[in-house]
Amino acid sequence: MHVRSVTASEIRHTLEAWTSLVNGRASDAGVDVRAVLMDAGFPRASAASAASIERLERRLDGLAELARDLPSIDGAAAMVAVNEQLTELDVRPSVVEHDGVGAHMHWTPATATFDDQVVTDIMMALAQEVVANGTARFGRCAATDCGDVFYDGTRNRSRRFCDDPRCASRTHTADHRARRRADAG
Ligand SMILES: [Zn+2]
Ligand SMILES: [Zn+2]
Repeated sequence: MHVRSVTASEIRHTLEAWTSLVNGRASDAGVDVRAVLMDAGFPRASAASAASIERLERRLDGLAELARDLPSIDGAAAMVAVNEQLTELDVRPSVVEHDGVGAHMHWTPATATFDDQVVTDIMMALAQEVVANGTARFGRCAATDCGDVFYDGTRNRSRRFCDDPRCASRTHTADHRARRRADAG
């Protein structure tokens, strides 16, 4: 199977950024929202005002429950939830070409606030994801005491752990110890 389109990878990047923001906001260490969005390719992130980032943080916290529910609800429930959000947003699509990136969609006008743009982009990515795959690609980290949510962009949906490499390694160590105990017994 080939990568379906640029759109598919944009959806993936946006949903991965969303889950890391949700997990990061809930963690003790916190998260640099601006940095995550810069990494995820939001061109306006670097210049966004502090007030805009603060508004965005509050709105992300408002959407955190939906993100955390996604691994356990079905496509139909996700559809209802995403439509509820979309009716609140000023979605105005256009095809644009800028900064050497080929023609692509923008979901908000250039006059939209940064937080409106980001929230709309996330909800439009989620809407398209729900249409394509329901909620099958959303999962919860398999490490004990973690439970962070993730978007599984792997071909065969084999992802088990969140972005934190310690989750995978401590689980593998525990599995290994359990196997050795079983062998010894
Ligand atoms: Zn663009
Ligand atoms: Zn984890």
